[in-house]
Amino acid sequence: MLAANEEWAGQASGLGLPAAPARGVAVVACMDARMDVYRLLGLAPGEAHVIRNAGGVVTDDVLRSLAISQHVLGTREVVLVHHTRCGLTGADEAAFADQVQRATGQRPPWPMRAFADVDDDVRESVRLVRESPYLLTAEVRGTVYDVDTGRLRDVA
Ligand SMILES: [Zn+2]
Repeated sequence: MLAANEEWAGQASGLGLPAAPARGVAVVACMDARMDVYRLLGLAPGEAHVIRNAGGVVTDDVLRSLAISQHVLGTREVVLVHHTRCGLTGADEAAFADQVQRATGQRPPWPMRAFADVDDDVRESVRLVRESPYLLTAEVRGTVYDVDTGRLRDVA
């Protein structure tokens, strides 16, 4: 990765841009390694914040990041990107907690945030963003990315 960065540094894009995203948008997406979030949304460096975690779920830390994105750096739109074949779809919360506990001796105090249906979780995430008292009443859009076709689908 350091060697790759040597090459990148000679041709890097986004250098010298202002920190505020040019398109005024913050994306919340799953950390899934198959998703190149900038490219699948047609975004260039400097255009959007991309906040990622397992599932792309709206946690307290996502709300913290969105509040900074909006109040400090001026974004007004939020795009949520969940995806097909996500590891959190149908995952077993108790089995995960057991697994962590067996491996480390500690039971995690936070939920895994598994969900049964990806569309339902997108709708729940949209609701959590819209109802957060710390965010502006921004445009919020929920989507599901298909990791087999590359297509992004709006979730009504
Ligand atoms: Zn995922």
